[in-house]
Amino acid sequence: ILNEIVAQDWRNWIPVRNNMPADYFLISGPCSAETEKQTRQTLDQLLALNKVSLFRAGVWKPRTRAGGFEGNGVTALKWLQKFQEETGEHVTVEVATGQHVKECLDHGINILWIGARTSANPFSVQEIANAVQDTDVVVMVKNPVNPDLELWIGAIERIANAGITKIAAIHRGFSVAEKSKYRNYPAWSLPLQLQERFPQLPMINDPSHICGKREFLFEVSQKAIDLGVNGFIIESHIDPSKAWTDAAQQLTPQALNEMLAALSWNR
Ligand code: PEP
Ligand code: MN
Repeated sequence: ILNEIVAQDWRNWIPVRNNMPADYFLISGPCSAETEKQTRQTLDQLLALNKVSLFRAGVWKPRTRAGGFEGNGVTALKWLQKFQEETGEHVTVEVATGQHVKECLDHGINILWIGARTSANPFSVQEIANAVQDTDVVVMVKNPVNPDLELWIGAIERIANAGITKIAAIHRGFSVAEKSKYRNYPAWSLPLQLQERFPQLPMINDPSHICGKREFLFEVSQKAIDLGVNGFIIESHIDPSKAWTDAAQQLTPQALNEMLAALSWNR
């Protein structure tokens, strides 16, 4: 069922941007929609690049420890809805519950992604699947935090079984117990096995959450290209060092543009 369902070309549902290398797409935006101004300024700077197909912004933030910024919720959704209407750009938001899905649909946000903590939980994924059942939304599924290929496939299958045909996988790396160079271990063989089993399923690399640090983004992005990725999701922020979440890994839109220009895109 999965191979049939995802047989659609991603170009049917992800807008192509002229300044991106042919056959690749880019999703970018801040880890979190912190304020209306920060979110809008980041969007405007990204739009000027003509490279970004989808604008990402975290509205509900799954924080590891209690006490941190957990997102502006529906308040931020309303900013994003307004930006979408004003600019015609498409916005994508992380959902973790059926209620999140409902709020997104109520606010005209039709491109959703499931985060790595959520895709590890079949009950949560099924709840999201039930909430998107027979709608026309796009659902992108991040790998679960643990390196379990079957669990990743299972999450994608639950979404496909709900009648969703616009599905993509996001590779964001896997939790590690020991201190390591990258925040999340890439385990490249897992996305490669997923691509082998489901060749039509778009594979999106998330170097931001693999790296945890800006300085490693280039090498991880280049590796993803060399291994045959279709697109990227990369966090960007007008003032990264002051970001409320994931400050060490975000890029200014300008720095993002420079990194993209330095990559070698030949397959
Ligand atoms: C995010 O995209 O900001 C996020 C929380 O990612 P992940 O689910 O990969 O940790
Ligand atoms: Mn983040």
